[in-house]
Formats: sequence, C-alpha cells, structure tokens
Amino acid sequence: MNSGEVCGLHWATARPTRLSWEEGIIRKLEPGPRELPENVWLAPPLFDMQVNGFGGVDFQRDDLSAADLSRAVHALRLAGCGRFLLTLTTAEWPRLTARLARAAALRAESEDLQSAIAGWHIEGPFLSPMPGFHGAHNPALMLDPAPEKIRALRALTGNDPLLLTIAPERPGALDAIGLAVALGLKVSLGHTDASTETIHAAVQAGATGFTHLGNGCPRELDRHDNILWRVLDESGLIVSLIPDRIHLSASLFRLIHRVMPAESIVYVSDAMAAAGAAPGRYTLGALELEVGADQIVRQPGRTNFAGSALRPIEGIFRAAAMLDVPWRELWRRMSDLPTRFMGLSHELAVDRPATFCLLTQNAGRRDADLRFFARGRECLTS
Ligand SMILES: [Zn+2]
Repeated sequence: MNSGEVCGLHWATARPTRLSWEEGIIRKLEPGPRELPENVWLAPPLFDMQVNGFGGVDFQRDDLSAADLSRAVHALRLAGCGRFLLTLTTAEWPRLTARLARAAALRAESEDLQSAIAGWHIEGPFLSPMPGFHGAHNPALMLDPAPEKIRALRALTGNDPLLLTIAPERPGALDAIGLAVALGLKVSLGHTDASTETIHAAVQAGATGFTHLGNGCPRELDRHDNILWRVLDESGLIVSLIPDRIHLSASLFRLIHRVMPAESIVYVSDAMAAAGAAPGRYTLGALELEVGADQIVRQPGRTNFAGSALRPIEGIFRAAAMLDVPWRELWRRMSDLPTRFMGLSHELAVDRPATFCLLTQNAGRRDADLRFFARGRECLTS
C-alpha cells in the first residue's frame, strides 16, 4: 500500500517535521521528534519553468511519445524537479502547434504526466531575429504575434498554465501581450533588444517576466545602453536566470542578486535532452548539438549556447556556491517563487500529493544527497 512517513527538518522553518501519507496524499504534517539528525531536510519539489528536453529526450520532436515523456519526467524527479513547464521553441508555426497539440494530448491521457507537466512555455517564434538576440533560434522562422496566433495557443492548451516568451519590439506585440494576459497567459519578455520605452510599455500591457536575463543577447553589448541595464532599471519584472555558472558569470550572477528585489529572481534550467544524461550528441529540434563532460551545450561552429545540460537541483547547489549562501535559502527560487509567478500553489500541505524531496546535506559541502518521492512512491535510479 502506498503509505508511509518520513521525518526531517522543514526546509523553510528548520523545525523537526513528520510528514505522513496515505494513497499518495499527505495526511499529516506535524512536529517531528526533537532528536532528528541535523542534516536531513524535507523540501517541496523543484519547479522549473523552462525545460526543452531532459534525460535523453528532446521535447522538440514531431513524434514525441508518452514513453519519452515518462522517461524525461522520471529523470527530472531524480534531479529534484517534480513539476515543470514543457518548453517548445521556435519552429515553423504549423509544426510548433502540432507539437504542442501532441504533447497536450499525451499529457491528457496520463495522470502521472499531468502531475509532472504543470503547463507549457512557448519560447518563440515571436522573438527578435537580430544577431545575438535570436540565440539558437532560427531567425528565418520568427513571426509577429498576430492575435489569431495567441488565440490558437490558448485553444490548444485549454486552461493549462501557459507562459509565452515574446520580444515586445515586434509589430503588434504590445496588443498581443494585452490579449495574452486577458486570455490567462503569463507573458515574459526575452530574446529582445527592446528600448526602455518599449519594455515599459510591455509591462504596462501586462508582461510580468523576463526570460533568462543575461542570455538571448549578444556576448558584446554597448556599455552605456543595453538590454541588461534596461531590464535591471525596470521595476516589476520577475527575471529568470540559468544558474549553471556557464550562461552567466559568477560575478554577474551575484550582481543581479544585489540589484534586484529579493522576490524578483527565479531560476530555470533551460535544460535540453543532454541534461540528466551522458555527454554526447543530442538534438534540440532541428539543431545538432554536442555536450561534453564540462556540460556545455555547443552548437558546432557557433559561439552561442543552445540550452543547458543543467539538472535543476544542481542549479540550486551551483547558485549557492556562487552566492556563498546555504542552498536552502535558494530553494524557493525554483519552487515557491516561480509557482507563485504562474499562479500555482506549491507548499507541502495536508491533502496535497505526497511529492517531496528528502535531502541529506553532506558535511562540509554545499550539496546534499537527494531522495525524491512522487505521490508517495520513491523514485529510484533504475
Ligand atoms: Zn532562450
């Protein structure tokens, strides 16, 4: 029978806590024994708003199967991530929408996939085609966000949480942002070289996020006026960062934390198929990519990155090392804060699924060994 209990220190309060569950649902969450080990922690699962593929599975495939999705979900759980936004990137519009329809249909047939795939993130094709700003997306496939396209995305996803990354300088983008927000989408700006005025107008129109700040832009920027300064100077945006030490230097990562309000930074992996899998050659849609032992995702012959090979929990530990703070302080940047941004709830609570992380902190190190439970069942490597 799927019932049990575990004890650990509560990740946020550090209080000894006993969590017990029946039939995969949390029945009790109560004070635990005082003599608990000091290094065992109970935490909610991580929530990743940008996952393009994982565990050897590329979500940008036309023939994605339920077995592929289950494999990726399992690998994500082993990396501490219990829920995520399945992310589809720029492709020909009919192809992109067909992929979204296919993934939504596969998810609708499986309770387990529904519990893991919280919703969708559409990154492209409403992005900047300019050199550097388009990143690994094909600039030839970029489109303006016509109202019927926004409506089509909404129709394909019903009432599911849906995040749209958009460059607000595209013709019609400000109206599209207003329409998207009216239809219940969340809008994040990204892959953009919008002016200060346009960014401000996009925020007025309802945009609330900025996707992977510091990436989706050229390596070299004007020191007086560039997309980083404009975004940091705009209040009211929740920015996502890729905390792998590769996409952002440690010093820029620290500076963004110093400059932005504490509640305004969330982390995403931007993971592609190689994450949670061995080094080798992988695809990201039409791109052939190489991933070495250094976990850098390279597009042969190019200098830009094309997604990451970052496992979500590893992102927390790397961020903790860069910021020189305990990993627990950063957990919310990939749990409560992004779930709140998407209008979801995330806490460990009675009557909610017994999906959680049990972490044993390694003495003297900034990381922890993870056990992951999905609806009361422990996820095991093999
Ligand atoms: Zn991107």
